[in-house]
Amino acid sequence: MYLYNSTTHKKELFVPNNPELVKMYTCGPTVYHYAHIGNLRTYIMEDVLEKALRYCGYNVKRVMNITDVGHLASDADTGEDKMLKGAKRENKTVMEIARYYTDAFFADCEKLNIKRPDVVEPATNCIDEYIDMVSRLLETGKAYFAGGNVYFDTSTLEKYYVFGDHDEEDLAVGVREGVEEDSNKKNKNDFVLWFTKSKFEDQALKWDSPWGVGYPGWHIECSCISMKHLGEDLDIHAGGIDNAFPHHTNEIAQSESYLGHKWCNYWFHVHHLNTEGGKMSKSKGEFLTVSLLESKGYDPMAYRLFCLQSHYRRNLVFSWENLDNAVVAYDKLVAKIATLKNEGEIEQAVFEELKNKFVTALNGDLNTSLAVTALYDVLKAKCSDATKLALIADFDAVLSLNLIAAAQKLAAKQAEEEAANADPEIDALVAQRTEAKKAKNWAEADRIRDELKARGIEIIDTPQGAKWRKV
Ligand code: AMP
Ligand code: ZN
Repeated sequence: MYLYNSTTHKKELFVPNNPELVKMYTCGPTVYHYAHIGNLRTYIMEDVLEKALRYCGYNVKRVMNITDVGHLASDADTGEDKMLKGAKRENKTVMEIARYYTDAFFADCEKLNIKRPDVVEPATNCIDEYIDMVSRLLETGKAYFAGGNVYFDTSTLEKYYVFGDHDEEDLAVGVREGVEEDSNKKNKNDFVLWFTKSKFEDQALKWDSPWGVGYPGWHIECSCISMKHLGEDLDIHAGGIDNAFPHHTNEIAQSESYLGHKWCNYWFHVHHLNTEGGKMSKSKGEFLTVSLLESKGYDPMAYRLFCLQSHYRRNLVFSWENLDNAVVAYDKLVAKIATLKNEGEIEQAVFEELKNKFVTALNGDLNTSLAVTALYDVLKAKCSDATKLALIADFDAVLSLNLIAAAQKLAAKQAEEEAANADPEIDALVAQRTEAKKAKNWAEADRIRDELKARGIEIIDTPQGAKWRKV
């Protein structure tokens, strides 16, 4: 599989350190509010990556953190803790907020068929690991203590901006919002590893440490949680593009300084879902959640298809019209699949040829829109229905669009409707008309059609024969 690697800015052949097990880490949500569908675009595409690797025969261990402490409002080291803000907003404790929104996040993931990672670790579980890493960084002169906080010293690095090709706007996160300069920092890019002093003294969660009672910075959690469960060498680290800087840049700085060697080989970044007005937000405009989509009658699978129809390295614009188009596409797909009968033999040669198209799409930097095209190719192919159904089930191990189940449900509903509308007398008249047509007795065929029309029945000629419905 070829994947674009944000550190080398190239598509590279993916070769895991250990062919027996791919180690994958994903930045999890900050659980101060519901995830918006932009956040969930990132998790959908990461889910597809994990499933594509498994589909290609790899065994994958995937770890995700839950950010329940340390993520400040500005993404840099200033502003109030997002969790505390959430707790104040809802008059609850930070831990209550964390539990509630963690559950809400996984409920949304379930609706979108996003598999739960093998390990999910809340940041507040790993304080000892952070203290250990920060201590080592201080011992080796990579970090310093100033004004009550421990900072990472970026002047000890050969290279700090490892993801140099991102948009100015993405790189500017840390210096946006009129952030005040922190006079304790030796260098502009230094970042906090452990806080004991911030402007916001009412931080709810604090722990004892060699540097005083305080709390960890946001970046340290991902380095430590990854190493706790995946060891010193990571194959793939994934996240949204806004995380490349400062979050992932700082993770690399501290992890490699701590380890003394390269840490992660492939960096996978999903570009943003934007609204027509620009950046998606939890506070401005309509707060777009999975529940909001459902309340407007949208099937979460249509949103998943909407995401799969575009490449993860392109910004995607959300509009209700675009989502409506995905709904039409999804419904058509399901309706088409519902007409397939599990009949005939699986034709191996055709199966392999069509599967190959799908695999090639995934192997080309996870080109999900081409993978969806491969699915349409299956429906158009000249082969047995059994071959098609086997291919669709096979592809859906990665696409996770519930295709077979949705088609079965639709077929059952149609059968039920047909049964409810069954009328042997009308069936007999439709059969007589078919016979008349066969005998080229057009006048009789037309007479029967007109008679039925007068009784409110419309005949629909399909490749499977004449059907009728009440109008
Ligand atoms: P957060 O909950 O803010 O920590 O973000 C969770 C994930 O969503 C991170 O991987 C972010 O990079 C990603 N993310 C944030 N905004 C968007 C967006 N508009 N589109 C896609 N991914 C996003
Ligand atoms: Zn992270």
